[in-house]
Amino acid sequence: MTRPLSAFCRADYRALLEDLANRGYRCVDLEGLASGGRVVFCRHDVDLSLNHAAEMAELEHAMGVQATYYVLLSTDMYNLAQVENRNALRRMASLGHTVALHFDATKYAEDRGSLEQAAADECALLETISGSPVTSLSFHRPAAALLGLVGSFAGRAHTYEPRFFSRVAYVSDSNGGWHHGHPLDHVAVRAGEPIQLLTHPIWWMQDEATSAIAAIERFRHNRGEALQRDLARTVKQYGEWLSQIGVD
Ligand SMILES: [Zn+2]
Repeated sequence: MTRPLSAFCRADYRALLEDLANRGYRCVDLEGLASGGRVVFCRHDVDLSLNHAAEMAELEHAMGVQATYYVLLSTDMYNLAQVENRNALRRMASLGHTVALHFDATKYAEDRGSLEQAAADECALLETISGSPVTSLSFHRPAAALLGLVGSFAGRAHTYEPRFFSRVAYVSDSNGGWHHGHPLDHVAVRAGEPIQLLTHPIWWMQDEATSAIAAIERFRHNRGEALQRDLARTVKQYGEWLSQIGVD
């Protein structure tokens, strides 16, 4: 039996940021993690929903927090070339956040040269879409060989380099829970040392804490409705048929 998935809510995320600030933590970018002291690198891997990421970016901005959003290009979950999403990325950058690449290496051939070329190509595409330089990347569900990889990748820093990962505290909400303890209980936070804090927007941007399953089901339902609206706009007869059977 796998562990039940939990999720959080907006108020939980605000409280977490406030608690870190109250302990003297300030936000830095990825390179800033290596500077030592009470610094937090707020990293978000956008695996499922760009809308949730865009909302989180606004919440953070209102609290004076700067984060880095790692977005996927090779996904069916969202399309960054879509005008609304392109505008959302640019808005996030204009709020002071960093937009960077979440790279799914499993989509490409395994040899290092091909992988780095694919990552460089995706970075170039993302730079065109976001209108800002892409200076770092994070791996999506990384294979063991990519975890702790020393040095840059595709000419960029990456979040699993030992200087950002194994040599500093790393806390993640993967699968909707703090499976390695709450960040504020972490020995590094108690000692006022740097922390890389990875959170996934979809687990947090909800009114009330619920299960992660419920968050995913809501996302799937909304995606289904959006697809139906798109289909009705694209194929007139389908829209008419929906009206006939009483679907708005
Ligand atoms: Zn991921």
